[in-house]
Amino acid sequence: MSASSVRVVARIRPLLKQEIEKDVIVTAESGTSDHTATPTVVRIPNPKHDGESFSFQFSSVYEQHATQQELFDAEVSPTVKHLFNGFDTTIFAYGVTGTGKTHTMRGGKTLAERGVIPRLLSNIYRRCKKVEKDTAGATQVQVSLEYFEIYCDRVYDLFEPPEKRTPSGLAIRDNHGKTVVVGLTEKPCSTLKEFEQLYDQANINRSTSATKLNAHSSRSHAILCVKVTQTTETTVRVSRASCIDLAGSEDNRRTDNNKERLVESSAINKSLFVLAQCVEAIGKKQTRVPYRESKMTRILSLGQNNGLTIMILNLAPVRSYQLDTLSSLNFANRTKKIEVCEVENDPVYRTIVKPLATSSLGGANITRQPLRPLTAAH
Ligand code: ADP
Ligand code: MG
Repeated sequence: MSASSVRVVARIRPLLKQEIEKDVIVTAESGTSDHTATPTVVRIPNPKHDGESFSFQFSSVYEQHATQQELFDAEVSPTVKHLFNGFDTTIFAYGVTGTGKTHTMRGGKTLAERGVIPRLLSNIYRRCKKVEKDTAGATQVQVSLEYFEIYCDRVYDLFEPPEKRTPSGLAIRDNHGKTVVVGLTEKPCSTLKEFEQLYDQANINRSTSATKLNAHSSRSHAILCVKVTQTTETTVRVSRASCIDLAGSEDNRRTDNNKERLVESSAINKSLFVLAQCVEAIGKKQTRVPYRESKMTRILSLGQNNGLTIMILNLAPVRSYQLDTLSSLNFANRTKKIEVCEVENDPVYRTIVKPLATSSLGGANITRQPLRPLTAAH
């Protein structure tokens, strides 16, 4: 077991059509005297004092022109090895609505525009083939998915069509120190093509509710869990990659006035506020971290046993976002100080059972049913 901080990387999105160059106030700098080095500093003017500015240091900073591939190759691709070594990984996008969280995590339709999630799956499937080949088939790898959203502190399965949802959502509970959502669909998914179909349909499920509940998708946290199970004749090892597109971090109280919006806003504000409190408590090494005060923080469990954690801080470069950008930067600044325990998920030894003559297993001498990972689901 080893400990490392949350890796925080900032990404500044390009200007949108209606935005203009002269409004750009957020810039990236190298952070060293070598101005050609990869940027690690974000600079933003002080809204209260013209001529003054704040700078924030991160693990790396991606500028407006950075491509999806550059970000993935440098930040996310290295985590796949850890996943196959039995560590859980968490990648989450934090930022104001309109700063590029969904673009970063999901991305667009073309190959070049594909975001972190489809690229991660593509890498995972490639590695599955490699592991199976390298072990001459002695290790079998299975991939399955869970995809859910947390909206107004309620958990909804995104693999279920919206009309089948129970309004109160799914329950969550602790299982050996990890948080599990009870009754969530787990879809086995063995190819990238299959993944794309499942993921697209689930995103339609998400946006169908959006037409009923205005701009719903920016007001809910979407969490995709990719479970990788590696099975040999004697062991089963399970690890998970969780990819999270958080609700917009803007201060909704400034703009919202209708009742439904206020309920949503207070839920979002509360979960992100609790997240900020958790970050604060962990940063100050307090013994009580208020994870349990929102479902999102229970599930995310920053700094608990969730292995490698990467936070992508999405930023818009323009002045109209200035106050929210500053509060995102301050939040991210505290987050990077969190130490994360990298706990390896131990392999579970398989029980070899002798078949009964009438066994429904059809003569198989190994059963998978009684096997549970020692460290249970996230
Ligand atoms: P969020 O999910 O944070 O609300 P989106 O991902 O929907 O933000 O991005 C807002 C807009 O900016 C979208 O039109 C998206 O296509 C565009 N965008 C965001 N990041 C980039 C980027 N890196 N390159 C090109 N367009 C981007
Ligand atoms: Mg979004």
